[in-house]
Amino acid sequence: MKITRLRTKVVQLPIDPPIQGITRPVKSADCVLTFLDTDEGIVGEGLVLTLNNRRLGVVHQMIRDLEDLVIGLDPCLGGTLNARAWKDLNFLGYEGVTIIGLAALDGALWDLRAKAAGLNVAHLIGACRSSVPVYASGALWLGSSIDQLQRDAADLVARGFRAVKTRVGPTDPKRMFERVAAIREAIGPDIGLMVDANQQMTVKQAIHMGRMLEDLNLTWFEEPVACHDHAGEARISDALDVPIASGETVYTHRGILEMLQARSADILMPDLQRMGGPTEFLKAGHLCEAHNVPCASHLFTEMSLPLLATLPSGYYLEHMPWLEPIYRERVELDQDGHAIVPDRAGWGFSFDPEAINRYAVN
Ligand SMILES: [Mg+2]
Repeated sequence: MKITRLRTKVVQLPIDPPIQGITRPVKSADCVLTFLDTDEGIVGEGLVLTLNNRRLGVVHQMIRDLEDLVIGLDPCLGGTLNARAWKDLNFLGYEGVTIIGLAALDGALWDLRAKAAGLNVAHLIGACRSSVPVYASGALWLGSSIDQLQRDAADLVARGFRAVKTRVGPTDPKRMFERVAAIREAIGPDIGLMVDANQQMTVKQAIHMGRMLEDLNLTWFEEPVACHDHAGEARISDALDVPIASGETVYTHRGILEMLQARSADILMPDLQRMGGPTEFLKAGHLCEAHNVPCASHLFTEMSLPLLATLPSGYYLEHMPWLEPIYRERVELDQDGHAIVPDRAGWGFSFDPEAINRYAVN
């Protein structure tokens, strides 16, 4: 089998109502869908995204510009993509749009190889489990009132989630504590609860906030400080009992390795597109195993699910519903509130042609 063509399609998935986050409102998830056609008719699908249509053009152009790395490639030799891309991208570097472009192609290549084998990606690799712990991430935002937080948290639990995440900001820690405590009250003691500060705190603010939250039995406290401040994260982790989670903003398995070596976080959460695709994501997960650190995922729920299922270090899947509208299938939960790894071939989640037409912007 040979890859004969790279096709791309840009779609804008509205986030309605917009999320009032810590940094800026989030109104849309804008994706470049990537299709690898083959001479045997099997098509591999991948995607990458930006938010609020920011710099989507340059991401799209980068993917187009990497086309020569995949045309003529035998999917069974998919490992050569990364080897060739590493040499090819050296001049521009291994962070940012180069790696995001690679992620789009690598994601489609894994889908293609698994479809050719008639297996889900998890089963192609060899899964450790048939379902993965998952938490609901697409609610409980800073813009919600306490009443709303309690209603939304209870709704998520009623939908079957056994863990939920909320956000905290750097100012007014007493009010932040009240918001998180209200969620804990609404969900009861047995549901997992995470908080995410989206890099907005100083080390001192984070330690202060973390100590206030310690009695609420948090599953983790995420990205307290700037993503490059691994020494600061390590100080916070040392000072607190609550586990620190971080890693969504670093690039490739080397970024994860630096964090592991710095002992910057108790839980790492590589992002599929910032890793550069599944090949690098799996390396990051294996490095986590070698360092005895749990590996969670960031965004890209549908593609991260099969990958996490194969990692002995695999921890929580982030359930973010932003990409749901573009897929035919939905992530389903079992009786324990775990996300079920589908038996369907490839990622097990395929783009819906009607949805592509509905959301296409070119
Ligand atoms: Mg986060």
